[in-house]
Amino acid sequence: MLSVDVSKKLGIFALEISLQIENPGITALFGPSGAGKSTFAKIIAGLCAPERGRIAFEDKAFFDSAKGVDLPPERRGVGFLFQEHRLFPHMSVYKNLSFGRVAGGRRPCCGVEEISEVFGITPLLDRKPASLSGGESQRAALARAILAAENFIIMDEPLSSLDEALKDDLLGYIEKIPPLFGFPIIYITHSKDEVLRLAEKAVIVKEGRVEKSGSAAEMMKSDA
Ligand code: ADP
Ligand code: MG
Repeated sequence: MLSVDVSKKLGIFALEISLQIENPGITALFGPSGAGKSTFAKIIAGLCAPERGRIAFEDKAFFDSAKGVDLPPERRGVGFLFQEHRLFPHMSVYKNLSFGRVAGGRRPCCGVEEISEVFGITPLLDRKPASLSGGESQRAALARAILAAENFIIMDEPLSSLDEALKDDLLGYIEKIPPLFGFPIIYITHSKDEVLRLAEKAVIVKEGRVEKSGSAAEMMKSDA
């Protein structure tokens, strides 16, 4: 289980989020633009520091302001998928995938070759990112995030730079992750359709706070 209780001032409001996410499956973090979702994702990954609070995965603290704990991103075992793929441009797809890869962990399927088969990128392994289409790059970035994840994955609006047909394609790949990998996935979006298609649970964030959380279907019904 991932448990988070953090606060950070953000311009006109303060981010004050407390939540617990169980393994495995997809939990959506849903809310309008500017609600603080990306900041929250960066806080969990260790890319941005909260003013106070605690972040722990199972019995390991990633951050604890009371005890002076603040693990760097590479020691948190978090796979991150951003809106833009951010593959390393000078490395082949294969090198991108093997870079930062963690061995073993809780993944039953964890080799570059196996993951490449799952995400349909085997024919692309020798290519450089500049030669890939948007959808191919995002699939490679998804595979890399899984290989780099020991504990869980955060995806921050991973479909927003893709057109409708490619969105649907990538959603099909994201759907394959929960049965293959036994860890939690936090999926950030402002699309109800994506929440309903992918997530079991949804957490609704507004102005830096959890407004409500529960089953994805219930949450999307009540959120007008
Ligand atoms: P979302 O991803 O939900 O659109 P963001 O987390 O990107 O929201 O931003 C929420 C608000 O926090 C914005 O008003 C943004 O300008 C502000 N913000 C983002 N990062 C920081 C920071 N490191 N310090 C202060 N304010 C920030
Ligand atoms: Mg954002």
